[in-house]
Amino acid sequence: MQDISLLVVSKTFPASAVRAAHAAGERRFGENYVQEGLDKITELAELRAELEWHLIGPLQSNKTKPVAQHFDWVHSVDRLKIAQRLSEQRPPELPPLNICLQVNISGEASKSGVSAADLPALAQAVAGLPRLRLRGLMAVPEPAADFETQRQPHRALAALLAQLRRQLGQQHKGQDLSLDTLSMGMSADLEAAIAEGASMVRVGSAIFGARTYPQV
Ligand SMILES: *Cc1c(COP(=O)(O)O)cnc(C)c1O
Repeated sequence: MQDISLLVVSKTFPASAVRAAHAAGERRFGENYVQEGLDKITELAELRAELEWHLIGPLQSNKTKPVAQHFDWVHSVDRLKIAQRLSEQRPPELPPLNICLQVNISGEASKSGVSAADLPALAQAVAGLPRLRLRGLMAVPEPAADFETQRQPHRALAALLAQLRRQLGQQHKGQDLSLDTLSMGMSADLEAAIAEGASMVRVGSAIFGARTYPQV
């Protein structure tokens, strides 16, 4: 089986929950809301070197600067403008910011994510930005109850990553463009995602319990 990393989704849970998960051996944490994530990064500053912070929620262009300064990964890039700002704003003393492109894999009109049709051009442009490292693709498929239906969007995302590897491998020969990340699978569908090749599953409620209090 493939190597699978666990991204612990700590949105709406306090810094103390992250601290407890870190004490139990976890190091990758995902946040949806920029300000909430920044607050936890600040509160857990003494653990900064041991933690990887991933932004997995939508990112508006007026919030890119603190994200470029404080996060390690952004999974939700779906527009070139956001990627360009993150690249410009990534501080020179930090390593390149790791990027996944979010794909609207279920084709829902209201959801964020680039369409499969627009993905190749976006990926090519992002791969050329100096302060970013394009790592792969991310999706949040439409919920489905049964395993076989859950597998389909994950299979489609895996196929898009394979296609992208071929496309960019041709154009960036000799560069370190590993495209090693397939960020898919949440509490409700992580087995289906793993069956289709997920390399990073993003799990919140199955670890911390249901999110009960209002999201910020
Ligand atoms: C909340 C969230 C998750 C985790 O969801 P759970 O159902 O709690 O596991 C994963 N990815 C994204 C983008 C999310 O917003």
